Amino acid sequence: MAYTGTPQPLTVHPQGQSAAPPALPEAHVTGADPLLLAGPVGAARADELDTAFHTVRAALAGRRIIDVNSTMNGGGVAEMLHRLQRYSRGAGLDTRWFTMQGDPAFFALTKQLHHLLHGAVASGSPLNRAGAEHYAAVSEANARALLGVVRPGDVVTLHDPQTAGLVPYLRRAGSKVVWRCHVGTDDPNPYTDRAWAFLRPWLETADAYVFSREQYVPGWLAGRHVAVIRPSIDPLSAKNQPLAPSTAAAVLSRVGLRAPADRDGPAIYRRGDGSVGQVRRNPTSLFSASPPPADAPLIVQVSRWDPLKDMAGVLTSFAEAGGSLNGAHLALVGPDVTGVTDDPEGARVFAECAALWHRLPDRVRTRAHLAWLPMADTEENAVIVNALQCSATVVTQKSLAEGFGLTVSEAMWKGRPVVASAVGGIRDQIEHGVHGILLDDPRDSVSFTAQISSLMGDQCLADELGAGARHRVRDNFLDDRQLLQQISLYQNVAGV
Ligand code: UDP
Repeated sequence: MAYTGTPQPLTVHPQGQSAAPPALPEAHVTGADPLLLAGPVGAARADELDTAFHTVRAALAGRRIIDVNSTMNGGGVAEMLHRLQRYSRGAGLDTRWFTMQGDPAFFALTKQLHHLLHGAVASGSPLNRAGAEHYAAVSEANARALLGVVRPGDVVTLHDPQTAGLVPYLRRAGSKVVWRCHVGTDDPNPYTDRAWAFLRPWLETADAYVFSREQYVPGWLAGRHVAVIRPSIDPLSAKNQPLAPSTAAAVLSRVGLRAPADRDGPAIYRRGDGSVGQVRRNPTSLFSASPPPADAPLIVQVSRWDPLKDMAGVLTSFAEAGGSLNGAHLALVGPDVTGVTDDPEGARVFAECAALWHRLPDRVRTRAHLAWLPMADTEENAVIVNALQCSATVVTQKSLAEGFGLTVSEAMWKGRPVVASAVGGIRDQIEHGVHGILLDDPRDSVSFTAQISSLMGDQCLADELGAGARHRVRDNFLDDRQLLQQISLYQNVAGV
């Protein structure tokens, strides 16, 4: 993927003052033929998708499909947009993907909305009048930039709370507007109410709304056009393509997360454009006494450095379990926080984990590893995540809240046994004991490590869950299914 438009500090103009707005950064995604999916999903499913694409392309008759979110790197939305755009483009749809610009105050506010929509407490009180005015001003500045490229009739999908303020501008300009929310909680509470009170006035006029779970749809949307579309993964991407064990080992030893071994292959992979890539970059930051031995069991959690992912809780549980985890090593891995522009909490969360790591007793610290993966090349980043997930003895996702949790499907697709919290969309992915292990209470560190330990001591169970997991993802969580739902939404919204 190449980018145009250098992210630049946003200038908010006082009302009434005009200046030519800078163009929003745009991701240029190379198209891929959806029929390529026939390999992993079978010819019948790939044909069904191809036919649906032909139909919608003809019906759209030149109208464009536009996505707007707030980052091109890091996190599940950026991950998904890249691939959905890729196949849509490959099928001949005219697609564009822009990212909003904002200043730290704007992203601090939208991160608060993100936590509140998850039903979680959010520190600070920016949802006051000044916060609302700033949100409105940033939204207006972005809308002005976007209106330079959007045409009447285009179908524009706006993702997450950052983009809600664009809805009225785009509707007035004649676009068809879908607002897609990737976060939510099964149990609405006063925090979610606060978030909806803030967002609702902006969202009222959207043509349709998309959520990842039925339970996330707020009551005030009753009677509106709402679709539930679960996220999915691309089996052909650098993140999920099959990697030989020797290649995965080579990739991990290249980045310092596995000791090198004679049997390692070259650290290479297939890039989206068909060329061969080689992993060259080191983690931007690595807290590790020395790499895990090549034959040590490995527990892996890959997440953004977000308090709701509970990386610190995983590390603490691992430390508390002491020697009971069969000499396993733990790798906590996330993106270089300087590369994720819309997530202001990353540096603080990583610093907390690093401080915990420093305080661990030597015998635990030598087995715990924290890494920031470089984000400069998203495919290189992806293949490192792939190598970690497919080399893991157990993959964990100990989230306190989770919209969907793509990392869970990613690990399941690789046939890995997963121990994950029974929260949000993780419950849609895993049926406990069939496709993985669900932890009823995400804060219960004793059960968490007991489940990991029992999986490590029972290869049959681990294999059974891994096989169940792969089937589950093949049947439900690969991109062809999500693309079909998305096409049907475009048809409804655009009236074609
Ligand atoms: N991810 C990544 N590199 C990292 C950390 C995370 O590519 O260093 C990816 C991860 O593989 C997954 C996405 O970011 O595809 C995270 O999506 P998820 O739905 O799990 O959580 P979100 O970040 O959207 O809350």
